[in-house]
Amino acid sequence: MEDCLFCKISAGETDTDFVYQDDQVVVFEDINPQAPVHLLIVPKKHIADLNNLQPADNELIGNIYQVAKKMAAEYDIAESGYRLVSNCGDDGCQSVYHIHFHLLGGRQLQWPPG
Ligand code: AMP
Ligand code: ZN
Repeated sequence: MEDCLFCKISAGETDTDFVYQDDQVVVFEDINPQAPVHLLIVPKKHIADLNNLQPADNELIGNIYQVAKKMAAEYDIAESGYRLVSNCGDDGCQSVYHIHFHLLGGRQLQWPPG
């Protein structure tokens, strides 16, 4: 997908450092962190947003949750707690239209999120 920032990042075409990667996903630190731990879990496959998820993506999404769990343990927030969020559309405050999951933790998060 041309001109997609997260396609470029996940393809290794930028100087973004990955804190984890496998054949399906990359994980890197958010450039504008909203918590002491703020990672982005990004599939290499371009899916614009949650509205475009297909049943064939179910395994990928399941694997993303497994990666989130692993990263939470590595960043020592598994016990204190954390949040896994995917923003969708304008009201959801999505700004990059390549699906991704925010892993946030390391402080008391608020609910409702605003
Ligand atoms: P969203 O607003 O849910 O679409 O999330 C997009 C996220 O990508 C935001 O939290 C941005 O801070 C983050 N972001 C944008 N560009 C970069 C970049 N080059 N490297 C790391 N994070 C980025
Ligand atoms: Zn993309």
